[in-house]
Amino acid sequence: MKNLFKNESIRHFKSLVEKHDRIVLTCHMRPDGDAIGSTLGLCHLLRSMGKEANVVVPDRVPRSLMFLPGVKDIAVNTQYDPYCARLVNEAGLIIMCDFNTASRQGDLAPLITEAGCDKVLIDHHRGPDIDCGVMFSYPEMSSTCELAFRLIAACGWYGYVDARSATCLLTGLITDTQNFTVNCNSPEVYEIMMHLVEKEADKKRIIDEAVKATSYDALRLNSFALLERLTIFEKSRCALVVLSKEDLDRFNYLKGDTEGLVNQPLNIRGIVYSVFMREDPDCIKVSTRSKFDFPVCDICSDLFNGGGHLMAAGGEFYGTLEECRSVFIENMSKYDRHLPQRLDKLDLGRQGSVSSKQD
Ligand code: 5GP
Ligand code: MN
Repeated sequence: MKNLFKNESIRHFKSLVEKHDRIVLTCHMRPDGDAIGSTLGLCHLLRSMGKEANVVVPDRVPRSLMFLPGVKDIAVNTQYDPYCARLVNEAGLIIMCDFNTASRQGDLAPLITEAGCDKVLIDHHRGPDIDCGVMFSYPEMSSTCELAFRLIAACGWYGYVDARSATCLLTGLITDTQNFTVNCNSPEVYEIMMHLVEKEADKKRIIDEAVKATSYDALRLNSFALLERLTIFEKSRCALVVLSKEDLDRFNYLKGDTEGLVNQPLNIRGIVYSVFMREDPDCIKVSTRSKFDFPVCDICSDLFNGGGHLMAAGGEFYGTLEECRSVFIENMSKYDRHLPQRLDKLDLGRQGSVSSKQD
């Protein structure tokens, strides 16, 4: 495996870990498999090294990740903020994983930003804007978990990786690559997977729980979304799914129930990008995915106060669901110039049209 890091950064990082006994690991709000996998995976490793390590997250861990070893010890800021504040204020070192800007931590951001201790960033999003002593920012990595594993190897800590840590790290690798379908062209991704499986990462459990498991309500909500709430924009090669609060209530929506929904319309031949809007209590959550290097991150930063990766990005819109939809539809054609020159015929099925098709 290639060593990506500068010797100086590794020396600095190791010296910070050696120096501090109390370490907090933290990630972005609405944490996903990579956010929880990287923080919890490193937490287990640091505990094996004799450190008093704790994971502090902005809000709840989704049901699909509750199988992870040690997940019950995670301090959730929305559930018990005095405890989170104590852990952060007593920490000598904070390791921030899987986010590139403070606002991604929501209400936890001020606590982390204002902490005067040493800080390290481990992340794979473009354009990091975070104040810290050591920064490991590698956007070409499939996942923060891949980066974390490489860091562990570069520090000579492989011996401290146990089955719990390996299971957490493999979770991020699997979920951020959508089960090894995107961002996994580097052969080294599979080398890392091999090492984690060698350490007895519970791959079956990860696939069963974090990838496949769903509920009756969630399955019906996702089916409803595709059947009744999907619009195809032929000229822009875009698929849009919009779910209102009423839709969500009808299927007893729980956080995490629409995970992966945005990927589904991307499977239609000829569709280049997919946008999903969900009416959450505090904002309209927007999630986007694309193929052929179509820059959905630009759409999210231009229109939805967000960003992310080139082909997997998200954001938040403050206004009504209808306004969010309109803003997008009005601006959609501006992004047509990024469509590939040669495109597959749009496959709308035998009829050559769908009832929800527009433009
Ligand atoms: P998802 O669609 O799974 O919520 O997010 C996909 C990716 O988009 C995430 O890995 C993250 O990089 C980015 N992302 C999602 N939501 C936001 C957001 O509200 N703000 C920013 N800056 N990035 C986001
Ligand atoms: Mn990630």
